[in-house]
Amino acid sequence: MKEIRIDSVNNDMIVFAKDRSKRPIDVVITQTEKEVSKEYEKKCPFCRGNEELSTKETFKIQEKNDWVVKSIYNKFPILDGVGKEIYGIHEVMIDTYRHNGNFYNMTEEEFKNLFVMYKNRYKNLINDNNVEYVSIFKNFLRKSGASLEHPHSQIISLSIIPPDIENEIAISKKYYMDKHKSLYDDIIKDEIQHKKRVIYNGKRFLVIVPYASKYSGEVRILFKEKIKFENIKDEDIYELSYIFMKLFKNLYRDKGYTPFNLCIHTHPKNIEQENYFNVHMHIIPRKYSFGGFELGTGVYVSSTNPEELAKKLKFK
Ligand SMILES: [Zn+2]
Ligand SMILES: [Zn+2]
Repeated sequence: MKEIRIDSVNNDMIVFAKDRSKRPIDVVITQTEKEVSKEYEKKCPFCRGNEELSTKETFKIQEKNDWVVKSIYNKFPILDGVGKEIYGIHEVMIDTYRHNGNFYNMTEEEFKNLFVMYKNRYKNLINDNNVEYVSIFKNFLRKSGASLEHPHSQIISLSIIPPDIENEIAISKKYYMDKHKSLYDDIIKDEIQHKKRVIYNGKRFLVIVPYASKYSGEVRILFKEKIKFENIKDEDIYELSYIFMKLFKNLYRDKGYTPFNLCIHTHPKNIEQENYFNVHMHIIPRKYSFGGFELGTGVYVSSTNPEELAKKLKFK
């Protein structure tokens, strides 16, 4: 049976086809990348001890006189600080000093350092007068766009508001104007009530498999409070660290060493009011790719049953 579903945060249209996953092309996972075993790699510019191979650092957290996470300028930036038409600063945040570290094996403590760094760099970049938006994202493994093996995240400031954000903001603003309540509050309320797509329901965050997503297997983390990313509190960081440690263990158990992208969607700097948009994170496994139908129509076919996936990933 086929059914049309709309992703309410961005209005993406999805043809939900449960039976389609049985086609061989959708179930084959080609594992081309081996798990990294070495904690240190001689030629890696992101490894501790190889600082002379990397660019200038902008931030670090030290433990026993050695850095454990740090942020550096991107050697090959998408944008640089001199553009006239579009301006931005592009940094690489090294997730952990361990070459073989990754989201699937990082400890809660390591995630805590990572989020402290995310917040620090975000706060730093958003305060630039020329900047309208700051994007944090991560590519893991080559299939997701990563060019270096050592686990890292990226942060880029922009003198524009990117279209995907503009779109999400416009949708939530319209909802607020029409109904005098917040779209995100309603999603959170509905998902908690429905229960079956909830992976984790915490004090400050809700983790779900969305009812509809153009990316099969997406997991979404929603902030319950309408807080800007630069203002997240220690307790947000603690809860997020717990969530990431646990979620990625469960993802590994379910899908193995899979490439993924993490995208954090935050408020544009000059948004008039914060009360219709909640910061949220999209975690997108890169197991599937789009075909001509998707590229030619903007209609996406999904074969993942959100309830089944949520059941597998649910925190026990
Ligand atoms: Zn390395
Ligand atoms: Zn989003």
